[in-house]
Amino acid sequence: METPDSEKFRDSIGTITEEGKRAWVFPKKPNGRYYDKRKFISYILLAFLLLSPFIKINGNQFLMFNVLERRFNIFGFPFWPQDFHLFVVTMIIGVVFITLFTVAFGRIFCGWICPQTIFMEMVFRRIEYWIEGDRNKQRKLDRQAWNIEKIRKRILKWVIFLIISFLIANVFLAYLVGSDKLLKYISDGPLEHLSTLFPLIIFTVVFYFVFAWFREQVCIIACPYGRLQGVLLDTKSIVVAYDHKRGEGENGRKKIRKNEDRQALGHGDCIDCLQCVHVCPTGIDIRNGTQLECVNCTACIDECDHIMESINLPKGLIRYASEENIEKKVPFRLTARMKGYIAVLSILIGLLTGMLFIRNDVEATILRLPGQLYEHKDNNIISNVFTYKLVNKTTHDIEHISLKLMTHKGELKLVGTNDCFTVPKQDIAEGTLFVEINNSDLSGDRNTIEIGVYQNDQLIETTTANFLGPRSYK
Ligand code: SF4
Ligand code: SF4
Repeated sequence: METPDSEKFRDSIGTITEEGKRAWVFPKKPNGRYYDKRKFISYILLAFLLLSPFIKINGNQFLMFNVLERRFNIFGFPFWPQDFHLFVVTMIIGVVFITLFTVAFGRIFCGWICPQTIFMEMVFRRIEYWIEGDRNKQRKLDRQAWNIEKIRKRILKWVIFLIISFLIANVFLAYLVGSDKLLKYISDGPLEHLSTLFPLIIFTVVFYFVFAWFREQVCIIACPYGRLQGVLLDTKSIVVAYDHKRGEGENGRKKIRKNEDRQALGHGDCIDCLQCVHVCPTGIDIRNGTQLECVNCTACIDECDHIMESINLPKGLIRYASEENIEKKVPFRLTARMKGYIAVLSILIGLLTGMLFIRNDVEATILRLPGQLYEHKDNNIISNVFTYKLVNKTTHDIEHISLKLMTHKGELKLVGTNDCFTVPKQDIAEGTLFVEINNSDLSGDRNTIEIGVYQNDQLIETTTANFLGPRSYK
């Protein structure tokens, strides 16, 4: 079936020409009330993104995602591999929250909060405006031959982009390896840590590529969240939308003419000035309807509002609205789908709160040494050898720790350490231990024993292990 003319724009994306080449977007510099608000929020988020790895709470980095050592800090709370279930629940909450938010408010996250948009529109693009000027000057510079002016401006821009990409790569590394390590690597000198310098260079190149060349393609082609819009949005979702009823009128949009009675002619309020298209950083025409490429950046709202003001018409021809609101003037209300997501989100948050509440400061794992059976000793004593691992998740040393057998009469002997030891803060104490139990107290070859972790005789954690004995033929 052939695509109707009105839908043909969906067959291609605005940043690719008919020949399949890149159509470079030169968006006009936005200005207006939404842009001012976005700038303000961006400054706060940029400060948050850049400073978070260097802020500490109780000695813990505020945010850290050390994948290699499997250590994560979220808002100053350390999470260990043993807390993986908490991490998974937190991630699911994040996904449900974003889904709910998207169903209700569309791609608003992309325009206001996403680091890609913030760095692209509020850092790199603004440097570009500063060096190369607004849309028309940029287009002229792009078309002109490589003269002194063009070489000077482009090199200046690329060098600044590279420096900023390098700084972002360093901050990114601070999230991954921890800011203390990063600062140490810097003070030691990069050549002392070549294994870190190499990824740092790769990150720098990736960031430079994304912000200097790939740009809006990230949101249009690469971002999986963007691709989800088609499934998440419906006619009740609030998105940046063109009021086609008002804009087109009965006889469509038309350029403005002096002393013309547009109302009498049945033309809508859109004067086809194309300013909303020129300002769009993803190169689309919002008047075609909601599109995958739209990141809800609001630049077209501001631009159209200026036009409406200048021709004495009410603002809001492009505004935050749902399709239902434009068609039937229905105000926003919670749908059954949104209520369902809110219910799931509430349950998950309750679950996470409960799990955090019962989370132990110390986590013990005791496992029988692989490949070892048991040893039959004098006086009918059966001995098993185990490895133990105690994780201290707190930011202080936990002293006077001892391990005791809780379920059976017998002895527990640590190898090569005192019976009472310390687990250093945010660290692991591990070693080997023997458990000896009289055969008469065992019930067959497989027994579950419970071992308690005590601090100054106070039980702080329990764990179980399998204890092997001789087979019973009773
Ligand atoms: S800026 Fe407003 S008036 Fe101008 S083309 Fe876009 S929608 Fe129409
Ligand atoms: S259509 Fe409007 S809101 Fe969407 S990306 Fe373009 S300028 Fe931003």
